Amino acid sequence: MTVSFALHGIGVSGGIAIGRAQLVSHAMLEVAHYNISARQVQSEIARFEAAIGEVQSELEGLHTAMTSGDVPGEFGAFLDVHWMILNDATLSEVPKRLIAEQRCNAEWALTQQMGALVEQFDQIEDTYLRERKSDVIQVGERVLKRLMGRPGAVRAASAEEQTILVAHDLSPADVIQFKQHHFAAFLTDLGGVTSHTAIVARGLNVPAVVAAHNARQLIRDGEMLIVDGNHHVVIVNPDRAVLAEYRLRQEEFELGRQKLRRLRTKPAQTIDGTHVALNANIELPSDLEQALDNGAAGIGLFRSEFLFLNRDGLPSEDEQFEAYRQVAEGMSGKPVTIRTFDLGADKHKEGLDGLARVAPNPALGLRAVRFCLAEPRLFLTQLRAILRASHYGNVQILVPMLASVGEIDQTLAMIGRAKESLREQNVPFNGSIAVGGMIEIPAAVLAMGAFLKKLDFLSIGTNDLIQYTLAVDRADEAVSHLYDPLHPAVIRLLALAIGQAAKAKIPIAVCGEMAGEIALTRMLLGMGLRHFSMHPAHLLGVKQRVLQSDYGAAKLVVDRLRRVDEPQKLLSMLERLNA
Ligand code: PEP
Ligand code: MG
Repeated sequence: MTVSFALHGIGVSGGIAIGRAQLVSHAMLEVAHYNISARQVQSEIARFEAAIGEVQSELEGLHTAMTSGDVPGEFGAFLDVHWMILNDATLSEVPKRLIAEQRCNAEWALTQQMGALVEQFDQIEDTYLRERKSDVIQVGERVLKRLMGRPGAVRAASAEEQTILVAHDLSPADVIQFKQHHFAAFLTDLGGVTSHTAIVARGLNVPAVVAAHNARQLIRDGEMLIVDGNHHVVIVNPDRAVLAEYRLRQEEFELGRQKLRRLRTKPAQTIDGTHVALNANIELPSDLEQALDNGAAGIGLFRSEFLFLNRDGLPSEDEQFEAYRQVAEGMSGKPVTIRTFDLGADKHKEGLDGLARVAPNPALGLRAVRFCLAEPRLFLTQLRAILRASHYGNVQILVPMLASVGEIDQTLAMIGRAKESLREQNVPFNGSIAVGGMIEIPAAVLAMGAFLKKLDFLSIGTNDLIQYTLAVDRADEAVSHLYDPLHPAVIRLLALAIGQAAKAKIPIAVCGEMAGEIALTRMLLGMGLRHFSMHPAHLLGVKQRVLQSDYGAAKLVVDRLRRVDEPQKLLSMLERLNA
């Protein structure tokens, strides 16, 4: 007998999906366990040896890339450690013995041995050595991936039967890799609204619910699910009446989506004639199609660090240049804002093993521009690639996580160096390329003078601004109830930033998730915001909202709203503004 029940989480991507659950474990490594015959033992051992050999070549390849210059210093130490682990008998020999003794498949033998090694590491008292556990796991997973063949043990979703992916947690790299599998929805135990995983899931334009706590444990493979991203709910094994109701709601939602498409080419203008630029956020050049399809006025945020995910080496200057040029040309003269690498924090989890380091507090550590300034060769390579692409379109540079004048000056000096080196080589680029800074740290709002003086434009990253203002880790579901875009402090900082930029006549945008929230469009308009950048899937909904709004009326409410301290009063004012 099947039991029907509901799970509540956070809907991070709207829509309704109905389909069968597919459970995946960490990093897609769902390891199968099967027995083999005595005759198969030798070939199974050979398969294991081949996988070890492939990873050895992989590491050698990385070593060559390192000597070619484009790679940060930490990378060398990481490679040495991984090389040693891979060639240690505990990892490369013991599993062979297990295959023979237990007559099991190579993946299972390796997984058992990894488990035993991890246990040994857990008992080590020395903190440094204990932390090498993650290196053992990473090396082991590299071999496992080789054994299993990429992209892992995920069944491709069929066209007839919708499949919903259920995982404990997914890294942004996992989600990107799932793009090709056409899942109907995503459901995870962990995650917050603005975690990068949620952002990427939204990018796939399918419903997603995160922070559903024990979903991975409670749901069984193949069970029927309804994922309602609009109402933050998942229904497991729905009965017929519920299914029928949700099929109806699903149709209505799709119909609404199609109606919005009529607005694609309509200019975004308020009732009282205020023009607004509605730009798209993208992660990869392949997202361009969706941006254009939804009538984006430009690319307001290209999260270039996604070029790093799901790959073994680092992208070369030429490779980056090709990606940036593709976007620049694809937008045919419309602005393309390329954000320099925002590596660090949650993006280090997977797929970025080369740059990973265990930071005590990644969100406050060597992230974004801090990381780039600490790795000047990597930064220069990227800046050269962006500058080269600026010859092929309307490209501008956006620098993430700036907090102080020193960082602005150092970054501008690096851009100067990159320009100089291109000039020396007679490589064409736009010499007066605009350089902007992200406002993501309260310090940047409170001391914005230098930003206004030294930069050509600004873009508020509300995802991080909220995280740093409220001291709430955006990726931690345990504190997600405290993550509040409508906290009076957040509203005041936003109004202050937008007001100061308007006074100095410096263009300012919002490119965090708040920009794509229809319920906040009028509030942001009222603050004086004229540049919004959001996931392409939200563009038409926000445009419809802009078309129905009156700037003058919104301004009057917002002037009062920004002075309100009580959350309840603030909410009711916002409700009235949206009525
Ligand atoms: C932000 O912080 O709001 C932002 C747009 O950048 P990211 O989400 O990539 O940190
Ligand atoms: Mg950010």
